[in-house]
Formats: sequence, C-alpha cells, structure tokens
Amino acid sequence: MSLANGRSYLAIPGPSVMPESVLRAMHRAAPNIYEGELIALTESLFPDLKKVARTDGHVAIYIGNGHAIWEAALANIVGPGDVVLVPATGSFGHGWADVATGLGAEAQVIDFGTSNPIDPDQVADALQADKGHRIKAVLGTHVDTSSSIKTDMAMLRRALDAAGHPALLLADCIASMGCDRFEMDRNGIDIAIAASQKGLMVPPGIGFVFLNDKARARRAAMPRVSRYWDWEPRINPERYYQYFCGTAPTHHLYGLRAALDLIHDEGIEHVWSRHEVLARAIWAAVDAWGQGGPIRLNVAEEKNRSHAVTSLAIGAEHGTRLRRWCQDQAGLTLGIGLGMSTAEDPDGDGFFRFGHMGHVNAQMIMGLLATVQTGMVALGIPHGRGGIEAASTVIAGATR
Ligand SMILES: *Cc1c(COP(=O)(O)O)cnc(C)c1O
Repeated sequence: MSLANGRSYLAIPGPSVMPESVLRAMHRAAPNIYEGELIALTESLFPDLKKVARTDGHVAIYIGNGHAIWEAALANIVGPGDVVLVPATGSFGHGWADVATGLGAEAQVIDFGTSNPIDPDQVADALQADKGHRIKAVLGTHVDTSSSIKTDMAMLRRALDAAGHPALLLADCIASMGCDRFEMDRNGIDIAIAASQKGLMVPPGIGFVFLNDKARARRAAMPRVSRYWDWEPRINPERYYQYFCGTAPTHHLYGLRAALDLIHDEGIEHVWSRHEVLARAIWAAVDAWGQGGPIRLNVAEEKNRSHAVTSLAIGAEHGTRLRRWCQDQAGLTLGIGLGMSTAEDPDGDGFFRFGHMGHVNAQMIMGLLATVQTGMVALGIPHGRGGIEAASTVIAGATR
C-alpha cells in the first residue's frame, strides 16, 4: 500500500521547493517590456541580489541555466591560449573546466577526488610554477553539489595572494547562494556565479554573474568578447533590452522579486543560520543511524560540509531501493548519487543526496529524516537507533 498521496517534497539539490509567493508572483499576464512596472521591478533586483552575494560590485543577469552562467563568466575573461586552474572537489569543477576548454582555453585540473577538501598547498604550488602568468583564472566551486563538499573560498584567496599571482578568483555559488554563508567582497572573490533554481527558490531559467572592477578590467583587455555573453551592456545598459540582450525573462523577474523579498524579510544571516541548523540535524541523524548500519555522510569533517546539500553512501544494494521507497511509498523524492560511481558500484546505486536548499524548514527536515528512517525499517536496512532523537535535539537546541 502506498502512502504517497498528499503534498510531496522534492528534496533534490535543485530545482528546489518553490514558495507559494514566488508561484503567485509568476501567475500573471505578460507585461509590457518597453515601459511600465517591469522596468522599475527589474532595477530593484540588482541591489537586492548584491546584498545576497555580499558585494558592492556589479551583477549581470542572463537567461539560462547554470551551464550558461559558467560560460557567461568565462566568455568575458578567457580565450584561446589562456589557462584556467581548477581545483575540483567533485563533478562540477570538471564541468566548468570543460566549458573553459570549449572556449579555447587550457584547463589545468587538480582533482581532489569526491570526498576530500582542497589542499591549498597544491593550489599554491601550481600558481607558483606559473612564472609567465598564463593562468588567468582560478575556478573554485564553493559547494560541489555532487559530493556536498564546501570549499573555504578565503583559503583560495590566500593561496593566490601568497603566490603573488594576478589571476582572477572565481566562485561557483550555484548550489550555495542563499544557503551557505558566502561573502564575495570579504573573501576576495573577483567573480561569483549563481542560478535561480537552488537557494534562490525560482524556477530554472535565469542566472547571475557578480563581478568586481578587477574582473571588469580583465574584460576590457580581452581582444574580443561574444556579443551575447558580454557583461558590459548588461551592467551598464543604455536601453532596457540590453539588460538581457533581448526580451526580458519577464515571469522569472516577478518570481525573483518575490524570492528576494522572502530572503531579505528573513535576513540573509538568519537564512544562513536556518540552513546550518537544518544541516546539523541531518548530520546528527545520519551519525546515529550509522552506528548500527551502512549509512554514512560522504564528507567526514563538519567544516567541509555544505548546509545546502548532503551526499550519503549506504551501499549499492540499498541506495536506489531506499530512494524508490521514499518516493513511491511516502511522497519524498531524494536526489540520485551524481558522479559517485566506483568499480564495485558502476551505476552509483549506493549513493544518494538530500537537497535542503532554499524554502525548507524544520518540519520538512524532520519529515524527511523520519521518512528515510521508515524506509530503512520497511526495507530491512540495518541502522542505529536514536536518529530522530538526535535531530530533535539539534533543532530544539537552536530554538531556545
Ligand atoms: C546545479 C549546479 C550547476 C549546473 O547548473 P545547471 O542549471 O544544471 O546547468 C553548476 N554548478 C553547481 C555548483 C551546481 O550546483
């Protein structure tokens, strides 16, 4: 008997749960794109986006998904003959490196595997070895959504400074923006990128390139930049259509306005704290279950774990079955394991992920955890006792 009917929870790491106020804001007739309220609404988004990224720099908005934003950022700063240095902590660094290669640049990847943080010394060594400064950019992934590893971006800044290297420092914050604490200017990031469909709680379809004046100077020195990806008209348009190089993503803009209102009404510091408490509750439950069974968190050390997504291992014979049970019997959709396959587990059946980004609260996370525990009971997967109690303790402690 299935008990899945009722309100479901899509707990995958993007697209994330969409708030009712975002959906309502988007449910409207098409607006005029030449004059009227859309113009003022669009202009209101820029300062509020910059408050989320914690920057006094600039932000360009693009129509596109995360892959488009990867390309948007790179198309302004690298071309044939340039090198990008990519310390990778999972799948996404490799994806961004591939986009750089497609633009004619050479990607120098340092692969740290799928459960270890970056070793800053290796990054510093690679920078020091680059005497001719062919490396134009270091591509850091703040949160790798496949491994759930969080990278200390200030540490990458220190590696660049210690080497005295002029390369730009880029941060992929697609999974982390509006979830994990990120402070672009304070951490010395030159370019940060985000997309609408994760912590920002809007459907996939628009993304953001935040940039400082150093990045802008690099853009000015490029021999050519593709018309469509060029960020200059987008951050400094003479006509409204130049914000988007064509028709505005009208409904996404209404949705984003509503999402930014939610974030700033709550306060970005509080948004970060909420994600942290909910992530700690998840870790506590998994640790307790792991005392008596095969489930474990992918990332050993707390400081290297994201607050937006959690990757788990449970053994190839259990992972896909548990995901299916949660979805078919209880209405909870968990994320698949991404890029985690091994020789023994070629399809990555032993891995799965919880998305806990954006519009999520305590009852949703407690429901998620209780559902996963119930799935382990139903499927006879061994697990330690006390997972739910451990999560309750974290959440109760935070509300005192
Ligand atoms: C989701 C994600 C991407 C890719 O976004 P798409 O919209 O799927 O193209 C890139 N980087 C990170 C860190 C992500 O989480």
